[in-house]
Amino acid sequence: MNKPTITVIGSLNMDLVTVAARFPNQGETILGEQFLTTPGGKGANQAVAAARLGANIRMIGAVGDDAFGQELIRSLQNEGISVDYVKPVTHGSTGIASITISERDNRIIVVPGANHALTPEDLDSCESVIAESDVCLLQLEIPLPVVERAVSIAHRHGVRVIVNPAPAQPLPPSVLEQASFLTPNEHERTILFDKMDEEAFADKLIVTEGAKGVRIWQDGQERLIPSFQVPVVDTTGAGDTFNGALAVALAEGKPLDEACRFANAAAALSVTKLGAQAGMPRRQEVESFLS
Ligand code: ADP
Repeated sequence: MNKPTITVIGSLNMDLVTVAARFPNQGETILGEQFLTTPGGKGANQAVAAARLGANIRMIGAVGDDAFGQELIRSLQNEGISVDYVKPVTHGSTGIASITISERDNRIIVVPGANHALTPEDLDSCESVIAESDVCLLQLEIPLPVVERAVSIAHRHGVRVIVNPAPAQPLPPSVLEQASFLTPNEHERTILFDKMDEEAFADKLIVTEGAKGVRIWQDGQERLIPSFQVPVVDTTGAGDTFNGALAVALAEGKPLDEACRFANAAAALSVTKLGAQAGMPRRQEVESFLS
């Protein structure tokens, strides 16, 4: 089978992870136990998930003119992802997530940096990239006007576009109307349809419900595609793996229910391993798991 082409439009972040026994009090300095940097951001995570499952991936995004930016670009290249459309931003830092993990809790600060320097005009100059894609995949860690423009370009060219509405926020009506699929988790679903009529969009709704599975609506019928039972190690990145895998399966022409089963399998495998990108399975693992 020819590899499908998927364009991922979204964030690239460096995750800066500090492990400490406890959090410092106000004005206090304490010694931590461990520090590590790992590539993240929902855009990059979903691009990596899809690349490992056997699709040609082109990433549209932005990084700062700094060492983290270079490292994030290299990490995508190592996965075989095209970074020709990742914009280097001068006078701006690469997006980061500062994550502190203690025994009882974790605290996270995200600084979007270059991710918020992506503009609708950048998307206009990528029109042919979007038009030549089998599927486009977006999340909400980039400015909403960029999401709107990307969805409208894809829609104009008849390219199917999946919008993963994470982190949770309401979407403009044009995005809800022009997206081919919306993939909220249960929490994001409530925010997305706070003031909108959910029923009007049911046929494009794919709600991920963690260990339960995925809810879809086909021909007016609600259906749960169950998750796979696995030993859970770390659920970070489960949603990103699901979305990347869903994009690959749909781009290959699988029907929706089969695509959700494939994505459930990939996401289940990801929760059996530590780390977001580190836990994302390769095609062969998913095929063996399903056979
Ligand atoms: P998010 O990570 O965005 O909150 P979910 O928790 O809904 O999203 O998880 C996304 C998908 O990952 C689920 O639909 C399911 O396929 C898979 N998944 C998540 N948690 C588990 C689990 N404990 N066991 C098996 N699969 C899981």
